[in-house]
Amino acid sequence: MSISTSVLSDLLKSLPYLRPQLYFKASLTALSHAMEDQVLAATLFQPLVIASFQRERFYRQEAHRYQRLSQRSDQIYVLSAPETDFTNSSEYYEKVAFEPEDGLSQEWHLVVIADNYATCLVCRESLGSIAKNKQVPEISPGLDTDTGRRFEGIWTSERGVSLKAAQLLLDRIVVYRPVLADKIEEARQRFGLGEPRGNSGTAALNEYACDIDTDPFVQRLVTYLQASQYKLHKAYRSITAQARKERLVNSISTAIRRSLDPREVLNVAAQELGQHLGTCRCLIYRAQATDGQAIIEHEFLNPGIVSVRGQTWELENNPLFREIIQEGEGVCVTDTLIDDRVTSSAALSLIAKKFAIRSWLMEPVFYQGRLLGIVELHYCRLPPHEWQSGELDLVKAIATQVGAALIQAEAFANLEELNKQLEALDRTRSNLIAITGHELRTPLSTIQVCLESLASEPDMPLELQQVMLNTALSDSERMRKLVQDFLTLSNLESGRVEWHSESLSFQECVDLALSRLRSRSAEDKPPQIKIQIAENLPLVRADGDWLVEVLAKLIDNACKFTPSSGQITIEAARNSHQMVEVTVADTGRGIEPNRLEIVFDRFYQEEGALRRTTGGTGLGLAISRQIVNGWGGEIWAQSTGKDQGSQFHFTIPIVQGTTGD
Ligand code: ADP
Repeated sequence: MSISTSVLSDLLKSLPYLRPQLYFKASLTALSHAMEDQVLAATLFQPLVIASFQRERFYRQEAHRYQRLSQRSDQIYVLSAPETDFTNSSEYYEKVAFEPEDGLSQEWHLVVIADNYATCLVCRESLGSIAKNKQVPEISPGLDTDTGRRFEGIWTSERGVSLKAAQLLLDRIVVYRPVLADKIEEARQRFGLGEPRGNSGTAALNEYACDIDTDPFVQRLVTYLQASQYKLHKAYRSITAQARKERLVNSISTAIRRSLDPREVLNVAAQELGQHLGTCRCLIYRAQATDGQAIIEHEFLNPGIVSVRGQTWELENNPLFREIIQEGEGVCVTDTLIDDRVTSSAALSLIAKKFAIRSWLMEPVFYQGRLLGIVELHYCRLPPHEWQSGELDLVKAIATQVGAALIQAEAFANLEELNKQLEALDRTRSNLIAITGHELRTPLSTIQVCLESLASEPDMPLELQQVMLNTALSDSERMRKLVQDFLTLSNLESGRVEWHSESLSFQECVDLALSRLRSRSAEDKPPQIKIQIAENLPLVRADGDWLVEVLAKLIDNACKFTPSSGQITIEAARNSHQMVEVTVADTGRGIEPNRLEIVFDRFYQEEGALRRTTGGTGLGLAISRQIVNGWGGEIWAQSTGKDQGSQFHFTIPIVQGTTGD
């Protein structure tokens, strides 16, 4: 059995002058509590109390009061939609269970009537008030959404209205629990509620009969209002704090993200965070989970505080750092003098004492679970600093920003590096096209012409056949060299080369290089070659094959660009940097001073790839530089200009305590 009509609507229908008002749930709770307390406090004689709750759970919150109210009167009726064990019963007071679909489940009523007092609260929950509240999830921490539910209805002390409300509710109660008919009739008689559905209550419509002390009521109401006000105030405070924190995080993040240089990012973060929190020191340093130590790189300092920049922090045996790694969370120490984690570690105690660290916070900078660094805050003055959750949240938020900014900066640096590599690759590609266009195609067509002639003209004189064959052979040799040099350089540049470092006598390497040269250019008469190797030259540490390769290339160049009448000198002596410095000098055509560095570029040839007269690939010096850099040496060229001869220098590490003799 359920009745779908609304008590509020019925009341408004029979008393059309009433104007319903909007109430928040918090206000209704305050009002109903005050009304109930009024009954408890006042000397009302056997009042009629009717309370209707939307659900059992709301009734439960009030049950203890009704238990007490029941000592005041035997005309107490409590209605509710049952959820667990609320049933029709008559133990302390009359309980009336209605179906959840009943119109009453949308309403909230409380009526109190005594001979000298009457008040009523008749309300219905506003449609959509719950739904609306749910759409704004937790906008205001501390304000729970339930108290924001809204009701419309009447709250009044007009006796006539209260009597009418009582009458409507009693009518319903009889329907639900006919056994109470007699008892209800008794109440009707007593308070002149007239016939069921009658209108006798209106006779006393505008009569205010309230000659009892309303002070407790007012007191109670004020207390509730104060409580709500306090809650509101707290909520606003937390909203303001939240907003302030967000602004701070925003401004710091903006400052951090302005730069793409990781060092600047960390520096700005340390300064901004330290300044905003007013700590004595704010440090940021890079650290990985497996690091044993870290060097303090970035620091914010308050005036009068000793700097720790450049200091080395122990990480491996640092209980605070270990805890960060284990828990994946920051740690904070209020007082280093009594915290076990610090006092039990000699290293930490020492640092704390030396740099007067009294309160200590370490927050990890993670990016996708990878530790990138640590943010540290120090307080050095008394009293020890109690870390507030607001501060911790802020540091955490900034650490997150620092992590993202660092990764962004790293990504940018990688991108720049990648761009450079791409540009270099692009240059190589273009050069390769030029080279293939000329260096490969020209000999290839020569070879083709020679071979075709040989094949198509069997009567060709023998000498001419020989010339054709020799041309084809030498051109194919040139192509082979080019392809080989290009592969060598590619392998060296991409690090796909194995190094076999050994102790070598420099003299032997020079001999090998020269013998290779002679076997190659048997027919050209090379310029005279002089060798000047310092006495007691120590052994050098390098890969023998590669060292001979560099020497051969430099001597080969010197021969190529020097007339037969000129001279080539090969010198070797120990320099001031504990290296052997080798010089291959010639008296040939020389190099313009502004070309001294460019000659090491890939495919550089003074004449340009297309106007080549001398043989060569333009890769010799690029290969030599890769080789020399590979063993940690340097290579450079010197020349005072055109026709002034050139000197190529390079260095090789020595084997300490040896001589090459
Ligand atoms: P290449 O195969 O053309 O010799 P390298 O890389 O060895 O290629 O040399 C690059 C360019 O540097 C040469 O083409 C030449 O212009 C210049 N060069 C190298 N060695 C000398 C030298 N000893 N005297 C003058 N110019 C030189």
